[in-house]
Amino acid sequence: FSPESLELPSLFSSSFWMDLHLLCFANLRILVTGGAGFIGSHLVDRLMENEKNEVIVADNFFSGSKDNLKKWIGNPRFELIRHDVTETLLVEVDRIYHLACPASPIFYKYNPVKTIKTNVIGTLNMLGLAKRVGARILLTSTSEVYGDPLEHPQTEEYWGNVNPIGVRSCYDEGKRVAETLMFDYHRQHGVEIRIARIFNTYGPRMNIDDGRVVSNFIAQALRGEPLTVQSPGTQTRSFCYVSDMVDGLVRLMEGDHTGPINIGNPGEFTIMELAQTVKELTNPSVPVNVVENTPDDPRQRKPDISKARELLGWEPKVGLRQGLPLMEEDFRQRLAIPREN
Ligand code: NAD
Ligand code: UDP
Ligand code: UDP
Repeated sequence: FSPESLELPSLFSSSFWMDLHLLCFANLRILVTGGAGFIGSHLVDRLMENEKNEVIVADNFFSGSKDNLKKWIGNPRFELIRHDVTETLLVEVDRIYHLACPASPIFYKYNPVKTIKTNVIGTLNMLGLAKRVGARILLTSTSEVYGDPLEHPQTEEYWGNVNPIGVRSCYDEGKRVAETLMFDYHRQHGVEIRIARIFNTYGPRMNIDDGRVVSNFIAQALRGEPLTVQSPGTQTRSFCYVSDMVDGLVRLMEGDHTGPINIGNPGEFTIMELAQTVKELTNPSVPVNVVENTPDDPRQRKPDISKARELLGWEPKVGLRQGLPLMEEDFRQRLAIPREN
């Protein structure tokens, strides 16, 4: 019998130490930009669960809402600031989760110049802040940095296939510059950085009418409207449930690796398959219509998550058929459409 047979390595894996650290030693003041949004508010819930953490949210409420944070308002460990990250921010913090940026195509295309400013000037400001106070900063980048990928699944080494002048470029190229800024502040000024490349994420609190595919399909099914599959419907996405995403982000922040690291669920579905699944689970009587698509829609997307598995001890736990009903429940409540029994 050898030490290996006792599985000592897994007992003392990096994730073990990470959990131990979070449990025992963390006593942190944490800034979450974009914390009133979908992923940000779930992240805030998770951070606030640790009674040693103090959390400051800075958000301009462009696509987020105070409602998402209402359970923390009034808590002495929590502070909500109406602030636009394109302006200078002076706070003293140990960690910065930098999420501020509209994520839905409808929102980020609404004012593309503002989207670029948010990604470039906003990230520059948060890096300037991190440099001044010695904070560690995590950027929520995106699978969109791979554009319409010619490699499948996408590894972090792939440099991407992005149109620099298209209608999605404000977001895609904005995030690419944000990643560049992160690495330049790291190399030039020694700022401690973490970069997550997030793949399509869904769950409760998504903006009901923000135009993303999962929220659109669930809202349409509940309202008894046709599900709008943008043509051809064979394009693929991989959908990660929000609790898994938050777990990955915290592990990345508290781990030892700068990234970029893909965080997403490798289960890949065509958009037509997604529509059929939502129809089956939520409302079998709604029709599925194929409608016109928007320009530059990536044809396939699936994360290679080997790095997240190896370096963070992370992998998603919630499958699509488990996650969709949890989101449906939240949408039913917000749309006041009770389940018929
Ligand atoms: P969201 O739109 O719900 O949240 C973004 C938040 O940022 C909102 O609360 C919004 O009001 C705020 N915001 C926008 N511009 C701002 C500015 N200039 N100053 C201050 N606050 C500002 O989106 P989300 O899905 O929660 O996405 C959060 C982050 O994750 C974003 O950075 C996004 O690019 C990234 N991401 C999300 C997904 C996804 O599938 N949800 C995929 C890839 C990357
Ligand atoms: N910044 C900020 N908060 C801080 C420190 C800096 O918002 O606590 C902003 C600042 O407005 C500046 C940006 O971060 O525009 C970059 O700061 P840095 O010190 O790196 O650059 P410099 O100010 O020297 O151009
Ligand atoms: N999509 C769709 N119907 C909708 C909204 C989106 O078929 O009502 C498709 C869209 O063409 C894309 C995929 O779903 O292929 C994901 O779109 P989303 O806007 O959610 O995210 P992103 O394109 O940024 O991955």
